[in-house]
Amino acid sequence: MRRVVLFIILVAVVAAQAVQAQTTAPINYRVTFPEPEHHWMQVEITYTGLGSQPLDARMSRSSPGRYAVAEFAKNVFFVEAYNGKGQKIATTRPDADVWRVSGHDGTVRIVYRIFGDYANGTFFGIDTTHAHLNMPAAFMWSPGHENQPMRITFVTPADSKWKVATQLYPTTNEASTFTAPNLQYFMDSPVELSDFRTSSFSVPNTDGTPASFRLVVHSVEATQADVDELARLVQQLVREQMAVFGEFPKYEPGNYTFLLDYVPWGHGDGMEHRNSTAIASPGASIRTLEARRQALGVISHEFFHNWNMERIRSAGIEPFDFTRENVTCCLWLGEGFTQYYGPLLITRAGLSGGQRDSSAPVSGATQVINTPGRAVRSPVQMSEYAPFADGAGSFVDETDANRTFLSYYSYGSGIALALDLSLRELSSGKLSLDDYMKLLWTQHGKPGGPAPGLVGKPYGLKDLRDHLAALTGNRKFADDFFDKYVEGRDAPDYGHLLSLAGYALQMAPAGRGWIGNVRVAETAEGLLVGSSANRGGPPSPVPFNTPVYDAGIDLGDIIRTIDGQPATIVEWNAISSKKPGEQVRVTVERRGGAVANKTITVKQDPTAQQVVPVESQGGTLTAAQKAFRDAWLGSKVKM
Ligand SMILES: [Zn+2]
Repeated sequence: MRRVVLFIILVAVVAAQAVQAQTTAPINYRVTFPEPEHHWMQVEITYTGLGSQPLDARMSRSSPGRYAVAEFAKNVFFVEAYNGKGQKIATTRPDADVWRVSGHDGTVRIVYRIFGDYANGTFFGIDTTHAHLNMPAAFMWSPGHENQPMRITFVTPADSKWKVATQLYPTTNEASTFTAPNLQYFMDSPVELSDFRTSSFSVPNTDGTPASFRLVVHSVEATQADVDELARLVQQLVREQMAVFGEFPKYEPGNYTFLLDYVPWGHGDGMEHRNSTAIASPGASIRTLEARRQALGVISHEFFHNWNMERIRSAGIEPFDFTRENVTCCLWLGEGFTQYYGPLLITRAGLSGGQRDSSAPVSGATQVINTPGRAVRSPVQMSEYAPFADGAGSFVDETDANRTFLSYYSYGSGIALALDLSLRELSSGKLSLDDYMKLLWTQHGKPGGPAPGLVGKPYGLKDLRDHLAALTGNRKFADDFFDKYVEGRDAPDYGHLLSLAGYALQMAPAGRGWIGNVRVAETAEGLLVGSSANRGGPPSPVPFNTPVYDAGIDLGDIIRTIDGQPATIVEWNAISSKKPGEQVRVTVERRGGAVANKTITVKQDPTAQQVVPVESQGGTLTAAQKAFRDAWLGSKVKM
């Protein structure tokens, strides 16, 4: 009895020591670039205090902010494992992205090489000018060790002038060694190694402490003066962004970093992170004021994410699961509302180059009205479709996305526009979408999390509905809005809402005929429906709710004749000059040769053409419209 008790105590002590060792000793990464011209790097990871269990080291399959799986293990080669004595140990592959190390002595050093030549927000790229690293694409990690601190040292090529920039925590070895408190933070921290230029500034936060910002620019042509000038514009922009939420978050490593890769061999992309953003814009120059203003577009979007996505975060992506695609209800909010605010805040900050009205974020309205996919999926369902739409370029089979998908970026932006204008109307100008974003910040973002990199109060769909009811004191308004426009597929009444601010929504003129946006390609046999042989892009099924669909014609059919004449592109295009109600007779050859006679009944064109300020069309802006527009588009920064 006593012996047993002693044994249990002994086991408990050993177990406690093991847990402590695991939670305090960092996992050490060492990264070298022996041959950057060959686009690979070597990674060594050292684990200590492992006990006797096999160690699994794995590559991620997905990366936060990109919703399709990416299978990062495909670029890994030369994997080796060593024990604490430096002896090589065998590895096995229980899964395509897992290397298992058994029979070690409590210490394991894994060494591997990995190829990357795709510098963007999801993948990574190495060449003689830089290493642009997105962590999930580049680094193995071990399940079960997610809360262990991590330490990473970069050894730059001997003949390079590379410096290191990242949101990882600096150490006393400032130039090359950094830490992360846990895996989520590590994976969220992209790294740029290059001979970059920097420019820093700080802005007083609402509580009086300085919020610090740093631009890191990798560019062949930009001068220090260009980078400083860009930083000046970014400073104006971040002040305007802060006014939406009322304050900057506390940036855990002490500052927020804009990693800007403006080299022609990057791949255009911007990716949000908690205390930084990684932006690659291959065509970007920041040598002129106009070019710097253009660069603000992506910067504005990504910076807004440091609240909306990184801290105001959907439960579907928190904590992020790197082993699979992560599904969320609410990319219409995370991406769409961000898409709305990006240009809006550039306008409010007076940085849109004198095109305030035309750059107003009204474009979501026409896309919501016109895109056939809205008839099929709500904003919530579009968000859930993201794993098949966002970066999913590798499917072999065709999809019907052209008639069933509307990007949650434009859909969400259109919903944000409608909600902003509706709130202003409902409250006679006392409330706006800014107040809703502030409320989401105080409820879900500001409370923080158990550790840096973790969000303690991620939101669900119902939270968003309830917060709108609480903000307005009007449950019916909130329920109507969510039922119709967020979980339903209605288009908001943009004509009315935009008129409040003196904008006109121009629909296609009455009497204009329409048979749907249907792709056809002219062939020797006739018009091949849904084909893009001469227009680029994948085959396109005929959109629902169009006269061609209703006539029973779709992808793969060949239209042989139009009103008795051989079907040509010219004849096809002529149909659109017919009036609503007129009919067109066509003969259609199906796959396999059967021929069918079909009738297409022309409809009134239901598409929205554009949104324009009333004064640009010779109309007059009323005092009420001017006041509404100024309150919406004017700066909110208190001087
Ligand atoms: Zn985004």
